[in-house]
Amino acid sequence: MTDKYCVIGNPIAHSKSPEIHPVYAAQTGQDLVYERCLAPLDGFEATVHRLVEEGYRGANVTLPFKIEAARVCTRLEERARAAGAVNTLVFAHGEIVGDNTDGPGLVADITRNAGVAIKGKRVLLLGAGGAARGALLPLIGQGPREIVIANRTVATAEALARDFSRHGVPIKASGFAQIDGSFDIIINATSSSIAGDLPPVAPTVFGPGALALDMMYGNQATVFMDFASRHGATVRDGLGMLVEQAAEAFAIWRGVRPETGDVMKKMRP
Ligand code: NDP
Repeated sequence: MTDKYCVIGNPIAHSKSPEIHPVYAAQTGQDLVYERCLAPLDGFEATVHRLVEEGYRGANVTLPFKIEAARVCTRLEERARAAGAVNTLVFAHGEIVGDNTDGPGLVADITRNAGVAIKGKRVLLLGAGGAARGALLPLIGQGPREIVIANRTVATAEALARDFSRHGVPIKASGFAQIDGSFDIIINATSSSIAGDLPPVAPTVFGPGALALDMMYGNQATVFMDFASRHGATVRDGLGMLVEQAAEAFAIWRGVRPETGDVMKKMRP
């Protein structure tokens, strides 16, 4: 029987996940369908229960439901608990299990696709919202030398630094103007690129041979990518992260991790 999965969001028409998972399914010989599911803004929980009743095996969760999804789950994996947000649901044995593959997707894109090791590196994380929170535990797991979290609202960065300070990696919080020194890996996890804005960081943050990644993706380079590139960094957008988080979710559901190269070529020929 064909297994059913979907991505739940509002709006949902823009989601690229239904273009990605069928490629993974064909590549790994898995019999599944993957659909878009529009949930009413006040009806996420009811939508999840309907999907369970209709025999869906799992779902991805996108804006604006990732935090609410953590509350609907009967069990959370550690990285979802640390992120305080869920992007992957598994419906099995009467349970709704929540996981978060955004951070692992980011790490996979940096280490596998860009070929940049995080171990021993100085990492600057711009932003302290949901995406930054989800990235922290997987980044820490790679053993960087230090992580600096810089945010417009400094108190939010400080809270994040406190929450993740117990894992053996030094984590500092800062405002954009107070960022100290240069970095090997600079990740823009603010949503400023959506409005075409640049987080006000000094060009000196880009150390020699730095990698700068903007989590946003689209048809052209973001202002942050242009800025980083002008100051000597190698740049990436968030498409690789998206494709890798989908591969991580697929692996959770199906027990086989697909190759992501075909999908990257399809989405950015
Ligand atoms: P949130 O709304 O949770 O957080 C937004 C963050 O951006 C906050 O830190 C906020 O600062 C900061 N911010 C907003 N506007 C500005 C601005 N003009 N200048 C400086 N900082 C600003 O968003 P998410 O964390 O969910 O998403 C962040 C980005 O990551 C989005 O672009 C999203 O599309 C992308 N993303 C990409 C994924 C992928 O797979 N590629 C997956 C998930 C997210 P403050 O605290 O001061 O308000």
